[in-house]
Amino acid sequence: MSGLNLAQQEAVNYLHGPCLVLAGAGSGKTRVITHKIARLIQSGLAPQRIAAITFTNKAAAEMRERAKGLIGRDANKVVVCTFHALGVRMMREDGAVLGLKPAFSILDSDDVTKILKDAGGTTDAATARIWQWTISKWKNMGLNAAQAEAQAADDNERITARIMARYEERLTAYQSVDFDDLIGMPLKLLREHEAVRAKWQAALGHVLVDEYQDTNATQYEVLKALVGQRGRFTAVGDDDQSIYGWRGATLDNLRKLPVDFPTLKVIKLEQNYRSTSAILRAANNVIGPNPKLFPKTLFSELGEGEPVRVVDADNEQHEAERAVARIQSLRSSESVTQGPQFKEFRDFAILYRANHQARVFEQALRKAQIPYKVSGGQSFFDRAEIKDLCGWFRLWVNNDDDPAFLRAVTTPKRGIGHTTLASLGTFASQYKLSLFEALFSPSLPSVMARRGMEGLHEFGRYINDLEYRARRTLGAEDARAFLNDWLKEIEYQKHLYDGEDSEQAAASRWTNVMEFCDWMAQRCGGQASDPSGATIDSETKSLLEVAQTISLLSTISEREQDQNVVTLSTLHASKGLEWPHVMLIGVNEGLLPFKLEDDGGRQQKVSDDTLQRLQEERRLMYVGITRAQRSLAVSWTKRRKQGREMVPAQPSRFIAEMALDQKTAREDPREKLKALRAEFARKAQQSAAAAAAAQAAP
Ligand code: ATP
Ligand code: MG
Repeated sequence: MSGLNLAQQEAVNYLHGPCLVLAGAGSGKTRVITHKIARLIQSGLAPQRIAAITFTNKAAAEMRERAKGLIGRDANKVVVCTFHALGVRMMREDGAVLGLKPAFSILDSDDVTKILKDAGGTTDAATARIWQWTISKWKNMGLNAAQAEAQAADDNERITARIMARYEERLTAYQSVDFDDLIGMPLKLLREHEAVRAKWQAALGHVLVDEYQDTNATQYEVLKALVGQRGRFTAVGDDDQSIYGWRGATLDNLRKLPVDFPTLKVIKLEQNYRSTSAILRAANNVIGPNPKLFPKTLFSELGEGEPVRVVDADNEQHEAERAVARIQSLRSSESVTQGPQFKEFRDFAILYRANHQARVFEQALRKAQIPYKVSGGQSFFDRAEIKDLCGWFRLWVNNDDDPAFLRAVTTPKRGIGHTTLASLGTFASQYKLSLFEALFSPSLPSVMARRGMEGLHEFGRYINDLEYRARRTLGAEDARAFLNDWLKEIEYQKHLYDGEDSEQAAASRWTNVMEFCDWMAQRCGGQASDPSGATIDSETKSLLEVAQTISLLSTISEREQDQNVVTLSTLHASKGLEWPHVMLIGVNEGLLPFKLEDDGGRQQKVSDDTLQRLQEERRLMYVGITRAQRSLAVSWTKRRKQGREMVPAQPSRFIAEMALDQKTAREDPREKLKALRAEFARKAQQSAAAAAAAQAAP
């Protein structure tokens, strides 16, 4: 219980009923979850019966680390993962009752677009993506194609609903699921199959959910079904940080809790342990105008701290140079307010609304030779070479995965041409077979030239052979050898060098490939943790088993955790994290808040939709501000690029709002300095005492 205040202790000790911790940013909600895991184990609950659900894989990895710090190796047995990873686990174990093979494939967004293009008979990716978005929205609302058609508002929606029906048929045929299915199907399992529900309810003794405000309606239903009547769960969240409304997250989930669980215990945390008062005040000013779902107050005892800086730059280049200069000056400054411990590169973050804003900053950082990483942007797994390899793995795991088939059969090229593949495709859809099944069909030769036929058969046999070998490849060393052989067999390195103009680019891709294979091999050896967080154990695994889980992985960024580098991140991806020094950039009208169509200024009447979106933008700004611990700088540019032109730009309304009472509230700087000196002296004493105690211990 050390390191927890009274309200946190109350939440941690409340073990046997539904519990909601509702509190502002930096008040220690996530800390409650990690400590509660420890408390539950201490109370006698087996670690494998505890599930802690986080918002991202990265957050899961971090939570596991923190839990390890508290309880040691037992933390490896706790189920720490996202709703999606939990869904995968449930479907692998019990999906058979829905007609799903345990080795089903998980489609990424590109695959979905491709299938939708086919299902809707278009070559236009933009149209397919609109369908994708609508279908995803429906799935998140728990609607199937028939239900979607029944409630369609216009012809457009009706057409989309019919395409959805064809899309679903294809997924079934390919034994594939999309991301939304990873929530929807487990819900179906739990709702419609009593034995499955009973099994999971018995298996999980307590479910904890972080970032509860960003769950969607289906996820809430999954939670409800998992915990059943007893309602042994702990949800922690902050309505002011709900920033995924555009993806279906709903604050209704917060409103519903006390209704669905009348015995719900609601605990509020009021002390912020993260930020200085100046930062907290700016945050409160920005969120102030939003309607309150639950009244909350937040205070900090970390002192007033540095005033929040507003930086006005001429343009983005200038903004980036100023940001770099800020990092350099804070790193070299002797100021006692920073404290020597907050000067590493990893203590800095640059946060922005949209991915494309990172580019200019990356260039400026490189120029200044400051190491950095981009998170929330293109992940390692989105790189073409990694997707190539994953395509092969997916095909071993599930022969019926057509997108994977097409990727593998054409990468590297193996003399099987377009015409051959097109006739294979026609044949397959005619007989409702997957491409792989079609390839071995005895009647295929009647529609295909002999040469094409032979190439296909050879490929099919090779896949079968790989699958056979991968199943028998156990442990890191074997896996490494297998992967090396296989890359040689398919001449992948040559393929990379042939496809790139510059040798350097090809070499960098090849390095990624090697790194990836090494990481797979390590996982076969059971040493590395599973980034999906779904299953972690220290047993040796077969390469096929490891391959099974990889299509879910979107990032391996947890390997970057220890790196001492500046973070560049979107605001969305920064949720739940903290850095001593934060810079919010591009805080311009039109970017943050994002361009709102009918927003005619603050005096005019605006539509409900616009109002809600503005509220979400406000929450996004609030999330950004509250990531900062010690110092916060907010910058905007007087001119921005629009298309090819530079046009005049305005500072965000949030900047004015943030600074409302900044001046009047400022304390005497000498007092501040004194207080901070005292604080550091106290900290120094504490750590000296701790060091002495550690030495004195036997
Ligand atoms: P967010 O809303 O941003 O997710 P949160 O409420 O989850 O924030 P945490 O990340 O758990 O907050 O905690 C914020 C910081 O405060 C962390 O550095 C954490 O270690 C620290 N902290 C939390 N509770 C305490 C406490 N009782 N004593 C000291 N430090 C604490
Ligand atoms: Mg948190």
